[in-house]
Amino acid sequence: MSQPQTKQSYDVVIVGAGAAGIGCGVVLRELGLERFTILERNEVGASFSRWPEEMKFITPSFPSHGFGLLDLNSITLKTSPAIAFRREHISGKQYALYLQTVADHFELPVQTGVDVKTVDPLSEGGFELQTSLGTIQTQFVIWAAGEYQYPRLNTFPGAEHCIHNSQIRSWAEVKGDQFIIIGGYESGMDAASNLVAMGKKVGVIDRSGAWANPDTDPSIALSPYTLQRLEFVYRTGNLDMVGETPVEEVRPVSGGYAVYSEYKKWMTPQPPILCTGFNGSLKQIAPLFDWSKGHAALTENDESTLTPGLFVSGPSVRHGDLIFCFIYKFRQRFAVIGKAIADRLDLDTAPLEAYREAGLFLDDLSCCDNDCIC
Ligand SMILES: Cc1cc2nc3c(=O)[nH]c(=O)nc-3n(C[C@H](O)[C@H](O)[C@H](O)COP(=O)(O)OP(=O)(O)OC[C@H]3O[C@@H](n4cnc5c(N)ncnc54)[C@H](O)[C@@H]3O)c2cc1C
Repeated sequence: MSQPQTKQSYDVVIVGAGAAGIGCGVVLRELGLERFTILERNEVGASFSRWPEEMKFITPSFPSHGFGLLDLNSITLKTSPAIAFRREHISGKQYALYLQTVADHFELPVQTGVDVKTVDPLSEGGFELQTSLGTIQTQFVIWAAGEYQYPRLNTFPGAEHCIHNSQIRSWAEVKGDQFIIIGGYESGMDAASNLVAMGKKVGVIDRSGAWANPDTDPSIALSPYTLQRLEFVYRTGNLDMVGETPVEEVRPVSGGYAVYSEYKKWMTPQPPILCTGFNGSLKQIAPLFDWSKGHAALTENDESTLTPGLFVSGPSVRHGDLIFCFIYKFRQRFAVIGKAIADRLDLDTAPLEAYREAGLFLDDLSCCDNDCIC
């Protein structure tokens, strides 16, 4: 049965109810905005609840906010996943529950089961969105649709014979004893750690080899949590890591699959596991951005330089070499977007002072100089 077609109109539509969408929603709520909504195609925290069962946050949570240091994974003040779950490395499902709890506490106007298909700027200003619920009009859009639901699947010939790590619900359900993982950054090493811990034999092939990168920034090299786990599983002798080797092709052969680099070939009985990352959801609305520098150009308020009124929140935000791919990074821009919208709607921005005091209002980017490859 088709859904009823309705016409709705708002000041702000947030697309996506993940960490970024819910975090921005809290800011709008605290600014006293009445006419906004959060449109979510699945449920709150959907990307996190689809993580493999065994995958945990690499950024630690700690109940530190009472002493002025917000839990690294909190998206708003006075909340802490560490306190909620009494864990340092929480699971995707736990984080989804944290986001739902925040949404409930702030009574955020989330509409679930609503897929946003297109975003079109109107000549008179504002936007028209075509959604599974019908046409929606809004003055501003905050695009917070994430990346996890947009896996990078076709990176070399034969990639269709592989299985992407985002398609795996639990490593315990994967059949077989020997695996090849293509891609050795965080998700590849997480897959390897979990499979070896279950007694499987694993080979990881990576075009560079993040495990050998001495950089201390977790956005460039492996995080301390991952290195610590790797040390443990490497000692079992069941993990082989091949760096500086781009995979060029995968072919199904009798008894399994052949994985080819320029000079080498590996055999595996199971479909190789792709840990090749994500494209990002901005692709869906790509023409609304200037991509001449290789990424979506944004103003100092995280607004498209090409399409005024369209803001971006989450891991796709990039300013020069700065990429905001971790929650503790991109959460500091929620208030920046909130202020830009509040100024244009003539709302009092005083509620945002608490964000600045808590280090959640990063409008001076000269203090950060990290690169990021996740
Ligand atoms: C393997 C892995 C491990 C990670 N570990 C960490 C970590 O330890 N710490 C950390 O800080 N970050 C980590 N990250 C990064 C972090 O998970 C992401 O940056 C985070 O999910 C981004 O949040 P988001 O709200 O932007 O996107 P999401 O959480 O993906 O939320 C986007 C939401 O938008 C919805 N949506 C998408 N498209 C549409 C549409 N067209 N219409 C309607 N709804 C839509 C989706 O259903 C989803 O609920 C990790 C990422 C990966 C892939």
